[in-house]
Amino acid sequence: MGLKPKVAIYDFTDCEGCEVEIISLRERFLDLEKQVDIVDWRLGQERKSFDSAQDKYFDIALIEGAPITQDEIDTLKWLRENSQYVIALGACAALAGIPGIMDQEKRAGWYKKIYPSTSSGQVYKPKGIDALPLSAYVKVDFAIHGCPVNAGELERIFEELLAGKKPSYRPYSVCFDCKRAGNECRIINKKICLGPITQGGCQAICISGGSPCYGCFGPREEANVEGLKQALKKFADEEEIKRYFTMFYNKNEK
Ligand code: SF4
Ligand code: SF4
Ligand code: SF4
Repeated sequence: MGLKPKVAIYDFTDCEGCEVEIISLRERFLDLEKQVDIVDWRLGQERKSFDSAQDKYFDIALIEGAPITQDEIDTLKWLRENSQYVIALGACAALAGIPGIMDQEKRAGWYKKIYPSTSSGQVYKPKGIDALPLSAYVKVDFAIHGCPVNAGELERIFEELLAGKKPSYRPYSVCFDCKRAGNECRIINKKICLGPITQGGCQAICISGGSPCYGCFGPREEANVEGLKQALKKFADEEEIKRYFTMFYNKNEK
């Protein structure tokens, strides 16, 4: 990486909420921005400013969203070829996230319902490509987890990258964040929670706010998914457990 790393920020199919989190860093974002050249960011700037004569156009490509069209898949492969580091930004990119909840047959059905035909009678032909994480198509160097990403984590990981370090994941699960926040455990109270198998770093905001953890930070490396399912089966039925695993573990269960 040169003195001022060249950064590109791209998004595929998603809600763009993770990019909004970058902007919401406000003054902290401006401090980070002084240390990099953001050369291509559709949401945040008027025009691209990268030099296509260079070997690699970007030092860091931050990519949000899941690719669900051939164009998006081609762009992703182009970004991989032209970037030193590819970083998945948020659960849609890292886990297929919200687009991944729906399988490709259902998506094709919804396309037909939403776009039945044009006024000229031309029928829209859905491609129905399955929503998969970026890693299904290219090597991803690191994932910044969350739906949306946690602003503090975003800042920490970016600072580690700028210092030339390989970013690291937090070495604990959401349960650790949850205990630090002083929450009473949902599972003890016979309520489903995916915190024990989920990567920490979000400060357990959902549980502190009265909701369960659906796992938007993705599975921890040594997650004992089967062990958690067995524990949950003692008080919840299989359909309900399955519903919890549909949100972020649909394409990523180990
Ligand atoms: S991870 Fe969540 S907040 Fe981020 S783009 Fe996807 S749906 Fe939006
Ligand atoms: S409520 Fe969930 S995250 Fe918190 S300690 Fe219990 S299982 Fe872990
Ligand atoms: S508690 Fe779970 S679902 Fe909520 S932000 Fe943390 S990892 Fe994501």
